[in-house]
Amino acid sequence: MIIAANWKMHLHQADAKALIAAINSEQKSFPDPLVVVCPPSLYLHQVRQWANPSISVGAQNCHEQASGAFTGEISASMAADCGASHVIIGHSERRAEYQEAGAQLADKLQQAEEAGLVPIYCVGETLAERQSGQQDQIITQQIADIAAIASDRLIIAYEPVWAIGTGQVASVPDIVDMHSVIKAACQRLTGQKTAPAVLYGGSVKPENAEAILSAENVDGALIGGASLQAQSFCAICEAAQDIQSA
Ligand code: PEP
Repeated sequence: MIIAANWKMHLHQADAKALIAAINSEQKSFPDPLVVVCPPSLYLHQVRQWANPSISVGAQNCHEQASGAFTGEISASMAADCGASHVIIGHSERRAEYQEAGAQLADKLQQAEEAGLVPIYCVGETLAERQSGQQDQIITQQIADIAAIASDRLIIAYEPVWAIGTGQVASVPDIVDMHSVIKAACQRLTGQKTAPAVLYGGSVKPENAEAILSAENVDGALIGGASLQAQSFCAICEAAQDIQSA
């Protein structure tokens, strides 16, 4: 079970430090799930220093080139150099705001692999795509985009765009269906023997965590809003712990 926190562009140093201190002290009640905290890149190094060694740290993005004249960008190897072990790639906010897609995301994944980072590759359909019944096709294409690069370390996050930050969570049967489509597509398109871990993301909160995390084919969660408060994030980690140790 993997519980990943996507802080997005939130929290300054003092708040980040206090949040990590609270997670550190609560972590005895969730020793088993792998917790991955993804702060803004500027704070990767500090978060790595503050967090318990068993907590992993991830970047929220990396550039598709190894180095070069790309003002304001951060390479995968720089993230690794600052203590990251994971990197989120293809989050729907980056797909929508920065038009990231297809070959560019495959190149980012390649950079992550070369830097030794575990990629958390996000896939998900928009509301219009779901309403027109295109979700399987969209997700399969998003997986096909990176299939040639994918290694057995790949983690997928299924994040329906309409569920991110909206409080509108996907139903458990829909999550189970989509995770099974994703696992099957990954195996078919990558030729890997085992399917990757698939996290669900989209308005996960302490109130719905147990139902989601205990569903078939759900290997964890990617948490946005609820990861910014120690109480809600730790409650989700504890739900994961209970399921894992049941
Ligand atoms: C996310 O942005 O990855 C996310 C899952 O956000 P939230 O939990 O706030 O819906």
